[in-house]
Amino acid sequence: MEIYDHPTFRMACQQFDLVADHLEIPESDRARLKYPKRSMVVALPIKRDDGGSEVFSGYRVQHHLTLGPTKGGLRYHPEVALGEVAALAMWMSWKCALTGLPYGGAKGGIACDPHQLSAAEQERLTRRYTQEMIPFIGPQTDVMAPDLGTNEQIMAWMMDTYSMHMGYTVPSIVTGKPVGLGGSVGRREATGRGAGYLINRTMDVLGLVANQATAIVQGYGNVGSVAAFSLARYGVKVIAVSDVKGGLYNPNGLDLWSLEKHNAERRTVVGFPGAEPIPNDQLLVTPCDILVPAALERQITETNAANIRCRVLAEAANGPTTPEADAILEQRGDIFVIPDILCNAGGVVVSYFEWVQDLQSFFWTESEVVDKLFRILEGAFTQTLNLSRKQKISMRLAALSLGVRRVQEAKKTRGLFP
Ligand code: NAD
Repeated sequence: MEIYDHPTFRMACQQFDLVADHLEIPESDRARLKYPKRSMVVALPIKRDDGGSEVFSGYRVQHHLTLGPTKGGLRYHPEVALGEVAALAMWMSWKCALTGLPYGGAKGGIACDPHQLSAAEQERLTRRYTQEMIPFIGPQTDVMAPDLGTNEQIMAWMMDTYSMHMGYTVPSIVTGKPVGLGGSVGRREATGRGAGYLINRTMDVLGLVANQATAIVQGYGNVGSVAAFSLARYGVKVIAVSDVKGGLYNPNGLDLWSLEKHNAERRTVVGFPGAEPIPNDQLLVTPCDILVPAALERQITETNAANIRCRVLAEAANGPTTPEADAILEQRGDIFVIPDILCNAGGVVVSYFEWVQDLQSFFWTESEVVDKLFRILEGAFTQTLNLSRKQKISMRLAALSLGVRRVQEAKKTRGLFP
């Protein structure tokens, strides 16, 4: 399918092919499992604040609808492309299946730089995108959530646009909304908190002592900042963090609470007085116990994989490690990888809780949310670790095998229509 051609889509396909070979999936079943069910590309004209107008490109890819509605984030980033969104949708499918959620995967995005748009322009763009998507989304069809460059406010505008169209309030159309509009407590923190829980579990498995361990986080956004705090609460010393503008390093540990204040005021970690600057490429190869990529895809590649110096690679971002880098890490054998579809699954798990709460109009406490989240992550972690040990395969291959197998079995049982 040439329309999806993109380095990230090729990477997702390469991973799928490795899993399909491992699972000995017949050739005749592979295309049906691999390629998205449907994709939308829309032109989004909006009025700019200066009186002019501009057209942006919007995308939504729904990977499969075999197990229920599709579920996945909406990304605002200048480099968003159809193939990238298709790859992210595919990973969402395996992630939802791995954690036992009744969803297929989806992803969407608008090619824009949200930092160059005013709040009013972001609102017009979000509403126009939602309007264009109305024929293809719904609480039983496709449910969106925040991702890179989007947040609770964007979800609130989406929900309002969809509800105005329907003529009644439909909170279950999106997750990651403000709690006051039917969002779930604990959703904003879910991805980073889930990553923190899984890193802590991994430290147990490896015999690493939390209060003697150090961590580095690339991408100090929603996921990365919460993961850093979560690790600090387990006793881990966070020695470096970065965002798109640059990085910070302090071998004695960063004061995250002061950094939080600085970040809230300046909207960047850069310039924080309690640390020295460090470039992003150097940050990834700085020695630490736990390395958490929490920004973009394809950060750990064949050029830096041999130089990474950590004990645990916790993939909070989607697709941060290329298959070539994976091969190098596997050969090295000294790094325990918590693969993305497991490591950042906390976000979609609590999104699922939010959807369930909205459909029932019955809301849970934070401790109920966190307890249920950790149970699901624990189950997925244990199954992945057991399979990886039993079959002597990488954690990534084990996690993907569990996810892909479940979707394959569901498709087989449902049969091929007509
Ligand atoms: P975000 O926009 O809140 O944060 C992203 C952070 O990465 C920002 O601080 C940004 O400045 C930084 N960044 C961007 N480019 C960078 C670069 N080249 N080097 C270093 N830092 C860079 O986004 P988020 O929601 O935290 O998402 C981060 C990652 O986690 C993405 O891969 C996303 O797909 C994944 N993810 C997010 C969720 C969620 O619930 N938000 C769930 C699962 C996975």
